[in-house]
Amino acid sequence: MADVAVVGAGPAGLMAAEVLAAGGARVTLCDAMARPGRKFLLAGRGGLNLTHSEPLERFLTRYDRPEIAPHIRAFPPAALMAWCEGLGQELFIGTSGRVFPRAMKASPLLRAWLRRLEGLGVAFRPRARWLGFGEGRALRFEGFTLAPDAAVLALGGASWPGLGSDGAWVGAFAPEEVAPLAPANMGFRVAWSAPFAERFAGAPLKRLALSHEGRRWRGEAVVTRQGLEGGLIYAAAAALRAAAPVTVALDLRPDLDHATLAARLGGGAQSLANRLRRAGLAPAAIGLVQEALHAGAPRGDLAALVKALPLRLEAPMGLARAISTAGGLRWAALDEALMLRARPGVFCAGEMLDWEAPTGGYLLQGCFATGRAAGLGALAWLSQRASRAPAASAG
Ligand SMILES: Cc1cc2nc3c(=O)[nH]c(=O)nc-3n(C[C@H](O)[C@H](O)[C@H](O)COP(=O)(O)OP(=O)(O)OC[C@H]3O[C@@H](n4cnc5c(N)ncnc54)[C@H](O)[C@@H]3O)c2cc1C
Repeated sequence: MADVAVVGAGPAGLMAAEVLAAGGARVTLCDAMARPGRKFLLAGRGGLNLTHSEPLERFLTRYDRPEIAPHIRAFPPAALMAWCEGLGQELFIGTSGRVFPRAMKASPLLRAWLRRLEGLGVAFRPRARWLGFGEGRALRFEGFTLAPDAAVLALGGASWPGLGSDGAWVGAFAPEEVAPLAPANMGFRVAWSAPFAERFAGAPLKRLALSHEGRRWRGEAVVTRQGLEGGLIYAAAAALRAAAPVTVALDLRPDLDHATLAARLGGGAQSLANRLRRAGLAPAAIGLVQEALHAGAPRGDLAALVKALPLRLEAPMGLARAISTAGGLRWAALDEALMLRARPGVFCAGEMLDWEAPTGGYLLQGCFATGRAAGLGALAWLSQRASRAPAASAG
């Protein structure tokens, strides 16, 4: 029986641990935190969007890197859904095609999963902070060292560092092995006026479109004191990240064309707020129009303003509050089985790899799939090594 250390007890590491233990390895699962799956539990606060039900070929286009595709093909959304159901979790597909557990949280799934891992003999070692590599496959932790036969690192990105994934692992690799970590799926700062921020922080903006340089995204956003968050902003974030500060155009009534909207807005003696309300704008959207007018937007064609409201996004929110992390361990540092080329027997998985995708279930799917691939890769490497060993000693 081979000893395998899995470091990082998020979805990627837990999946690697399951595959390894089911394949006969003796698995020690280490995590810096006292409990496994802290960020997974946080993801559950938003309902736990596990994956997406769209056709696989379209699904794969959501990722910025082709290297992740074979791993998702090997463990596609349908397989992930079957796996969740195997853990007793009933799922449903929302109107958007996104897949959620009926429970709309992560804790029942995580509990069932940890029970399964315990049954497979996986030993969880809490408060075990990995510091870097020792000789060969040795792993240095705060206060102890492990020398397993193989290892899987699944250390996550660097958002929400208080939950354990702080990106400190970057320092254990050669600089050329890691693409710089950056926020992905994050909000943007907007310099709201004090009265707007005071009144509308927390207010939703439903059914919006955002345009920038010929690209257009649709979705919802939420006003915060510092700026804007939400699915629409996250979807556009990768395109806008490097451009900020940047002025985008918001369409506050994307379902109405200019002429219909102009007719609804009417004119005459009514107050601006009343005209906007009559055209179906929510209070926060009306506030946005007023902000733009105060900032000097032309008053002449109100319908044109509502359909292309200029909004300056000052800067992306920091990595600490992002949903996910761009950058990470470069694919060139890994072979097809996700083994580090420089360290045979050490495999890597999950958000620590250099890929990004929008929200919609693509992040967790990518983590589960690469976690499984790393676990299977380690099993295959161990069995190859075992089959070579007698010949080597005989020689
Ligand atoms: C608010 C929020 C909501 C989200 N909602 C969704 C969603 O609905 N759907 C979706 O697909 N994705 C969602 N995500 C993203 C998703 O949670 C992550 O992509 C996923 O958890 C990454 O999995 P991972 O296993 O790679 O890393 P992580 O889950 O980050 O786990 C890594 C583990 O490694 C441990 N670790 C890190 N460094 C060390 C070290 N040096 N030594 C020991 N242990 C270490 C950490 O403690 C952690 O437990 C959300 C993220 C956030 C922040």
